[in-house]
Amino acid sequence: MISAAVIEALKGYVPEENISLQEKMAGHTTFRIGGPADCFLQLESEEQLRKVQKYLNLVEEPYFILGNGSNLLVSDRGYQGIILQIGQKMSRIQVSGNTIIAQAGAPLSQVSKAAYEHGLSGMEFAAGIPGTVGGGVVMNAGAYGGEMSQVVTMVRVVDKNGEIMELDNSTMEFDYRYSAIKKYPFTVTEVTMKLTEGNKEEIRARIKELVAKRREKQPLDYPSAGSTFKRPEGHFAGKLIMDAGMRGFQIGGARVSDKHCGFIVNTGNATAEDVKDVIAEVQDRVKELFRVELEPEIIFL
Ligand SMILES: Cc1cc2nc3c(=O)[nH]c(=O)nc-3n(C[C@H](O)[C@H](O)[C@H](O)COP(=O)(O)OP(=O)(O)OC[C@H]3O[C@@H](n4cnc5c(N)ncnc54)[C@H](O)[C@@H]3O)c2cc1C
Repeated sequence: MISAAVIEALKGYVPEENISLQEKMAGHTTFRIGGPADCFLQLESEEQLRKVQKYLNLVEEPYFILGNGSNLLVSDRGYQGIILQIGQKMSRIQVSGNTIIAQAGAPLSQVSKAAYEHGLSGMEFAAGIPGTVGGGVVMNAGAYGGEMSQVVTMVRVVDKNGEIMELDNSTMEFDYRYSAIKKYPFTVTEVTMKLTEGNKEEIRARIKELVAKRREKQPLDYPSAGSTFKRPEGHFAGKLIMDAGMRGFQIGGARVSDKHCGFIVNTGNATAEDVKDVIAEVQDRVKELFRVELEPEIIFL
C-alpha cells in the first residue's frame, strides 16, 4: 500500500484530478484485463514527469510507465505501486517540413494521419497500431515492412533522477520489437521522426489498404494485446500454433483466436491467469511438436 504521505506529495506535483486510487487496470488495457493499481496518475507534461519520477526514486516507491496498454497483460491482483500514464494529456503533434515531433502519448494512428495530411510518407504502417508513440518506440512497433526504427531520429527521455536526455537513432539499439529503453529506466517524453515527401493520394491508399488487411486478418472484434508471441526465426507464430491444432484452444475466457492463431483474445471474462495458462499450453505444445520456443511479445505486469 502506498502511504498517505506519498499521495499527498504527488498532489503537489500533478493536479489532484489526475490521481486516482485503486484504479482498475482492465479499463486501461486493450486486453480489458487487470486488477487495481494502488495509484494511477496521468501526466500532463515533461516537467511533471521529471518531478514525480525523481521523487518516487527518492522514496523508493515502485512505478510503471503506461502508454495505451495495448501490449500489456496486467495481473489479476493489479499493481502494487504507481502507474504513470503518458497518454492523452501528453499527445501534441507538430509537423515542420519533413519532420514530425510528437509527445510520447500521441496515438500512432494520429501521427500516421498527420503525416498523410502533410503529404509525408513513412508512417503508413502505423495507422492501425493501437499504441502511443512512446510505447511504439520502446517496442520498436512495426508492421507490413515498416517499423519505428526506420523513421525515428531522436528520442527525448527522462531518467530516474528526473534528468532529460536526447538519444539518437543509433543509441536506441533498435531491433525486432526491442529498443534500449527496455533495459534502462528511461521514460520517453517526445519523439522526432523524419519522413519523406510523398504523394498524398498514394499515402492515403496505402493506409487504407493496410487497415483493410488488418480488419480481414485480425480478430479486432475481441479485446487482445495484438500478437501474443514474437515471430520465431524462420517461422510464423500463428502458423505454428495453428499447425499444433490449437486454433480455438480456450482456458476460462482466454482463447487462441479462430481468426488469427497468433492472437490470444479475451472472449469476455478472461483473467490474466487464463491468458497465462493459454500461453504456457501453447508454448509447451509448439515446443513438443516443432522444437520451437515461442517467446511472448506482450509485457507482463
Ligand atoms: C489489435 C492490436 C494490433 C496490434 N498490432 C501491432 C502491430 O502491427 N505491430 C506492433 O509492433 N504492435 C502491435 N500491437 C501491439 C501494441 O499496439 C504495440 O506494441 C504498441 O507500440 C504499444 O504501445 P502502448 O502505448 O500501448 O504501450 P503499452 O502497452 O502501454 O506499454 C508497452 C511497454 O512500453 C512501455 N512504455 C509505454 N510508453 C512508454 C513511455 N512513454 N516511456 C517509456 N516506456 C513506455 C511500457 O512500460 C511497457 O513496457 C497491436 C496491439 C493490438 C491490441
